[in-house]
Amino acid sequence: MNPSASDIENVVIIGSGCAGLTAAVYTARAELRPLVIDGHEPGGQLSLTTTVENFPGFPDGVLGPDLIERIRKQAERFGTRYAEGAVRSVDFTRRPFTLALDGREVKTRALIVAAGASARMLGLESEKLLLGHGLSTCATCDGYFFREREIAIIGGGDSAMEEATFLTRFASHVTIVHRRREFRASKIMIERARENPKIRFMTPYIVEEILDVQKGVVEAVRLRNTETGKEELLPVDGVFLGIGHEPNTKVFRGILHMDGEGYLKTYNGSRTNIEGVFAAGDVADRIYRQAITAAGSGCMAALDAEKFLSEHP
Ligand code: NAP
Repeated sequence: MNPSASDIENVVIIGSGCAGLTAAVYTARAELRPLVIDGHEPGGQLSLTTTVENFPGFPDGVLGPDLIERIRKQAERFGTRYAEGAVRSVDFTRRPFTLALDGREVKTRALIVAAGASARMLGLESEKLLLGHGLSTCATCDGYFFREREIAIIGGGDSAMEEATFLTRFASHVTIVHRRREFRASKIMIERARENPKIRFMTPYIVEEILDVQKGVVEAVRLRNTETGKEELLPVDGVFLGIGHEPNTKVFRGILHMDGEGYLKTYNGSRTNIEGVFAAGDVADRIYRQAITAAGSGCMAALDAEKFLSEHP
């Protein structure tokens, strides 16, 4: 059965983080009645943080989930609709594009992919409970809250080195905990960290547990030396995970151009290799990953989609 014109969306936005919701505000104000598909992490990375102090316009800071809720309402006010669930597969071979969600299909003339990148987690039960209570996945966002505190950062890549160095601006000491003796990070980044008197290294250690779930706040990490098997308790006020991010692009593999790590490639603004499909936010940004840059790129994708629809109704 062919869908009637009214069954076809003008623009669907995959992802309800800062990028997706900003794209929704813009496309809704252009009277395109966007449909936002919430995805498996509604609200994106902001919904996992506590206070955000670097989003312009909030001199006293704003809670990440509150900021998301405000943008959501703002988009709704102009006609944005929301759908729960995640996209399981896509067909971009002809327009309208087809998206398969759990149990139903959505057809759309244009698509904005703002599915984000999820911070890799260690897989510990305590992580879920302590995230935002001393455990963070974003040094730029949360480093400021750890003035004169003891911090551990987990990871051995460039992010861990860079974030450890950044965190010494605030912390009294930063301990880099890495599971191997060799580092994935580039030499220069390791040297910079080694030369910093506030940074020390613990290798090869894995994190067995983050304490203290009972108290609801980070107080220490229990580590295990992978060579000797010996356990050690490292008292810290904060733990930062610097073990990488994974862009949520699995369903687009082999369809949309992406780099070696799965981040979408954009051309001439927010355009992907498929005409009518645009990308915004962390799903296409392995460098900046800030709420404000995500919002900015969501705006760009909305304007690009609007122009595309006016030329290809
Ligand atoms: P990455 O290079 O993938 O490194 C992740 C690190 O976390 C690795 O050392 C890895 O250990 C460790 N790790 C992963 N899963 C773990 C787990 N479950 N438990 C414990 N440790 C775990 O990620 P990244 O550091 O975020 O860097 C991503 C990309 O961005 C890289 O290409 C990097 O060069 C680039 N980057 C560049 C800069 C810069 O140049 N200024 C800054 C940041 C990032 P193993 O090594 O044992 O696998």
